[in-house]
Amino acid sequence: MPEAVSGGCLCGAVRFRVTPPTLFCAHCHCSMCRKSHGAAFVTWFGIPRERLAFESGEDALVVHRSSEHGTRSFCGRCGSSLFCESARHPDTVDVVLASLDGPLDRAPALHVYFDSRADWTDVRDELPRLGGASGTEPLPGLAPEPRPGVCVGHVFLTAPDVEKTGAFFAALGMRELERTPEFALYELRGGTHLLLFPGATADPGASAPFDLMVDDLDAAHARFAAAGLAPGPIDAARTPHHRSFTLAAPSGHAVLVQSSHVSGKPV
Ligand SMILES: [Zn+2]
Ligand SMILES: [Zn+2]
Repeated sequence: MPEAVSGGCLCGAVRFRVTPPTLFCAHCHCSMCRKSHGAAFVTWFGIPRERLAFESGEDALVVHRSSEHGTRSFCGRCGSSLFCESARHPDTVDVVLASLDGPLDRAPALHVYFDSRADWTDVRDELPRLGGASGTEPLPGLAPEPRPGVCVGHVFLTAPDVEKTGAFFAALGMRELERTPEFALYELRGGTHLLLFPGATADPGASAPFDLMVDDLDAAHARFAAAGLAPGPIDAARTPHHRSFTLAAPSGHAVLVQSSHVSGKPV
């Protein structure tokens, strides 16, 4: 028997539990969901009616008939939107995922009514995007843009003090996977790994064999300055299309940090 998951409204008047398996889980971008929740979109899951049980407050629910075939229910005390029901599928109740206290048996798998989305909504996941009159039809030309299938695998640097140089790159925002005096490994966005090995100090003025890009150059500059990394002045003319500054790594290398210059598509 699967574990039941409890849920409820903000004020606690309405409490219920659902017993998986659920039927689906999707992000809905329709204008009614957006208005009634005051949100960019609403994540619903469907559950067979007999798998939804109230623990308290069923009488506190206010049922709003929002269309000819459907109702939306919310807590009459705190206004939390909780359920949507439709005469088109009378055996199923749609439940607001965010009302649950614990994890569901599935993750959101779709965007529905995607062609009705708010134009300020920026969706970057790779889930299917459906729409049209039913909200669940394929939308030609609106398939998610896949990320490129390859990234740079590894970049290398040598340093007289691997651990100290590693700490420097961690302070820049790389994810530390391993750090010993003989070897250190850092993960960058997109999956590239930086490998550090022991070696001589770089020649004066030598650049690192890679540069770094950040989303917000000014914010990165301020963050690195606050962390005591002494970034150089921001330069708008060093390389085309980028503003940039340099940092002195403990290995002796100058590390160039540039403003992001990507296509705007997922990377
Ligand atoms: Zn409530
Ligand atoms: Zn909707």
